[in-house]
Amino acid sequence: MSHIIHRSLKVTPPVAASAQGVWITDRSGKRYLDASGGAAVSCLGHGHPDVLAALHQQIDTLAYAHTGFFTSDAAEQLADQLVRTAPGDLNSVYFVSGGSEAVETALKLARQYCVETGQPEKTTFIGRRQSYHGNTLGALAVGGNEWRRKQFAPLLMDVARVSACNAYRDRLPDESEQQYTERLLNELEQTILDTGAEKIIGFVAETVSGATTGAVPPTRGYFAGVRKLCDKYGLLYIADEVMCGMGRTGTLHAFEQDDVVPDIVTVAKGLGGGYQPIGAVLVSDKVMEPLRNGSGMFQHGHTYICHPTAAAAALAVQQVIERDNLLSRVQHQGNYLLQQLHAELAGLDFVGDTRGRGLFAGVELVRDKTTKTAFDPAHKLHAAIKSACLEKGLMVYPMGGTIDGQQGDHILIAPPFIIEPSQLDFVVETLKQVIIRET
Ligand code: PLP
Repeated sequence: MSHIIHRSLKVTPPVAASAQGVWITDRSGKRYLDASGGAAVSCLGHGHPDVLAALHQQIDTLAYAHTGFFTSDAAEQLADQLVRTAPGDLNSVYFVSGGSEAVETALKLARQYCVETGQPEKTTFIGRRQSYHGNTLGALAVGGNEWRRKQFAPLLMDVARVSACNAYRDRLPDESEQQYTERLLNELEQTILDTGAEKIIGFVAETVSGATTGAVPPTRGYFAGVRKLCDKYGLLYIADEVMCGMGRTGTLHAFEQDDVVPDIVTVAKGLGGGYQPIGAVLVSDKVMEPLRNGSGMFQHGHTYICHPTAAAAALAVQQVIERDNLLSRVQHQGNYLLQQLHAELAGLDFVGDTRGRGLFAGVELVRDKTTKTAFDPAHKLHAAIKSACLEKGLMVYPMGGTIDGQQGDHILIAPPFIIEPSQLDFVVETLKQVIIRET
């Protein structure tokens, strides 16, 4: 019996024994094609020799040094790389160990910015429904996944919430994309006015929403409108790109495709590609300057911030992505994946939508395509799809629908950037067989 508190307290998952490229092999010798990169993590696949070499080199030289005493070349170089490749004035970086820590850091940094700029009455945020920002208390508070929040709600700060940008679900039949976008922005503006701009620190949103909805890209102009409203009312715009960032959508940052630059950006999963636990917060001069010229410190910190080994792994991952021109590969393979999903799955009786951006794709399943009625969550269709895919040697990331039917069961696909077209064909064909069998 395992003494680990696993995700399920009833079932112990198979033991992963080794992994190479897009494949993971379990202890029985069975191979799985990792078409979800775990949870959109393994952007370079497994066992990349350049990353392993950088890791070995770092561990042999300096595995760890506490930031209360030292900085390290690895962390400094990674920060330089992230600033050089970021647009606008995102010129400072805070390193953490994962996505939730990155979000907590962003929230606290935004609050301290308000305090240091003479706005201490700003104490809350606006988040979105159908969103996920992590499982720690601050991140859960700004998130809008009710299932994850429910039992912890009494512990969470009060946050105003607006609709997600989900055209498949919420655009009205007689509405153009532009009209739908305007309606969402009007709702955001009204929420700012109702809450009182003087109380709001910032607006938090995933650029392409992932874990809760399954790779839903924003409509054209949505984030440009968000940026304008944040500027108009003095809110910080915090982009959570923990899942959709670091190349996953075909540009290093997903927001680059929306022609905006946020004030604070969180990244994690693809930053270290799973070779080490690492996340980061990219911070604009607008936010950092008042702190540099004010208190001279960010009142925050964890034991493992700027971990040299994690930084060395992430630096190697990012250098490989740049050197091997993998962003353009993501664009090409992503187009192919989205095309194939549409061609092979969209016509199936219970596939409501196929969507995505780059190698970040989602398939939404519904009981009725016309009304978009979701399957009863009690049927746990997503769980059946996951096991049926695993049986066939395929890892995808299915999630359940919501009880209020605002979201059907969906399947997230986020393979390593190195995946080959023939492997994408296997993903789509296997998914098709499984969806036909399970629905
Ligand atoms: N933010 C987003 C957008 C995420 O998708 C996730 C994880 O899925 C997180 C934050 C939390 O990251 P972590 O699980 O590394 O704490």
